[in-house]
Amino acid sequence: MVRCAISVVHQENRFTVTKDDKEPMTNRRLIVVSNRLRFNVSVSDGQFEFHDSAGGVATGLASYIQFRRRTGSLAEDLWVGWPGTSVEPSLREDLKKQSLAAYRSYPVFLSEEEMEQFYFGFCNSTIWPLFHYFPSFTIYQTSFWEQYKHVNQIFCDSLMEVLDTNDVVWIHDYHLMLLPSLLKAHRPQLSIGFFLHIPFPSFEIFRLLPNEWRREILEGLLGADLIGFHNYEYTHHFLQCVLRILGYEHQLAQILTSDRVVKVDTFPMGIDFEKFSTAPADPEVHEEEKKIRSTLSEVTGILSVDRLDYSKGILNRLEGYESFLEANPEYQGKVALIMIVVPSRIGVREYDLMKRQIEEMVGKINGRFGRVQWTPVLYQYRHVPFKSLAALYAASDICLVTPLRDGMNLIAKEYVAARTDGAGVLILSEMAGSAKELPEGIIINPNNRAEIAQALKEALETPLPERKRRNQIMQRRLKRYDVMRWANDFIKSLVDVREIQNHIQAKLLGSEGRREIIERYHRSHRRALFLDYDGTLTPLARYPATVFPKRARSADPASLVR
Ligand code: UDP
Repeated sequence: MVRCAISVVHQENRFTVTKDDKEPMTNRRLIVVSNRLRFNVSVSDGQFEFHDSAGGVATGLASYIQFRRRTGSLAEDLWVGWPGTSVEPSLREDLKKQSLAAYRSYPVFLSEEEMEQFYFGFCNSTIWPLFHYFPSFTIYQTSFWEQYKHVNQIFCDSLMEVLDTNDVVWIHDYHLMLLPSLLKAHRPQLSIGFFLHIPFPSFEIFRLLPNEWRREILEGLLGADLIGFHNYEYTHHFLQCVLRILGYEHQLAQILTSDRVVKVDTFPMGIDFEKFSTAPADPEVHEEEKKIRSTLSEVTGILSVDRLDYSKGILNRLEGYESFLEANPEYQGKVALIMIVVPSRIGVREYDLMKRQIEEMVGKINGRFGRVQWTPVLYQYRHVPFKSLAALYAASDICLVTPLRDGMNLIAKEYVAARTDGAGVLILSEMAGSAKELPEGIIINPNNRAEIAQALKEALETPLPERKRRNQIMQRRLKRYDVMRWANDFIKSLVDVREIQNHIQAKLLGSEGRREIIERYHRSHRRALFLDYDGTLTPLARYPATVFPKRARSADPASLVR
């Protein structure tokens, strides 16, 4: 039975009439759901202030939606998520109205206590460290898990207030892994896509989660019709976990659950290439770039930009840079590490501790190698706005990206796009998802400080024509598969999977067909009956060999089709 259904899937997939790449869903509303909205709200004297949210995912998605609106290829859209602060009940209706009017957004309200246990708890103290391969940092606390379930339910309830059956719902990231199945249970006809922006770990890591949690997370995700990951490794890990924990096999990444086909696929998130590659020509950006270059003077700028996080390998980077200065004294006074660390998860003990360690290390390197006219590490702890970041990309000859684990890492892609002259060199950790798409960079293992030091030397000594050659290849790739293409591919695939599901849905026997079968049965003289077993004589079961059909009471076989 299963094999038969799968072969139909493949056939239909091959012959599905593909929709226009640019317009996968013109007449349907797109609902984007993420933990955070694309803005943060603050409340002062009962008035709301809206500030743009800084994350790469929110910015990329916003670029996509704006592009689709500009080209008139999106019927309507709505963004659903937490507005960045807890809002008193008396102000909520007002915020809903303002968010809808100004941002086509619908806020989901969470109390500070819910956010504490859900966001700082399960999301960032359980899932984030575990999925980034830091099991020793992972906290397994039942109250966190309970709050995670509760908040996913709150998202579901809020969505129910605004959803139409014909909507396409695109859920983002690890905060909302239970939401797809909660929504599916209420609205089976909805098209639901889920995208994970962090790594999906191998089975051996994922299984560290308590049994109930890991099963519910996988089942939660399987409520989606399409589940997307940044690269093949993450996709493969997920399929393995589904097989080993839930027992569902897959055929070419299509999982046949007890009632539906769920497609799993790889969609590496791109950047808004146009935005980053045209930025250096902006007069303001150009002016800032000139200022940075004149401050650096003859010194070569090595850029490092990250959110403060243990997964980003900031300490390893500093150690690698120190080894480089140690091993290559001729470069002392000739290079400077421009290190931007963006505040993140302020008030969380581990992050505060890490900030102190970074600052101590910066002090140590500057104290050890610095001179009156030269500071080896130019450290800033702040968020940099887009234009200043573009100027930094354009002014730095090397970009050093060394995460210990990173779902994608957009900084690496943005740097390559913004160095339009093709003269920059990217040094990139093999542990970043983007390394798969940027192999022309110098790829390093961030755990090896000697390798980082060697890569810096190699970057400084790579001849210009070779740098240009490598950058051209990467730029072409990034331009072709930009954030619009990424989102379009995902939405198109989501629309297609619904067609596959419709084709394999069970065809119920109508009264006309039933009468004909009974008549033919009575008319025939020699009768051979072919009966399907699991799913027909018995309910579908995980292990078909363990179920037995109930004995038919009537001797008349026609009773089977009555
Ligand atoms: N970013 C920014 N200002 C900063 C630092 C980073 O706007 O000072 C943006 C950057 O352009 C990128 C995103 O934040 O789009 C970081 O994305 P990445 O995937 O590298 O890391 P994440 O923080 O999402 O783990």
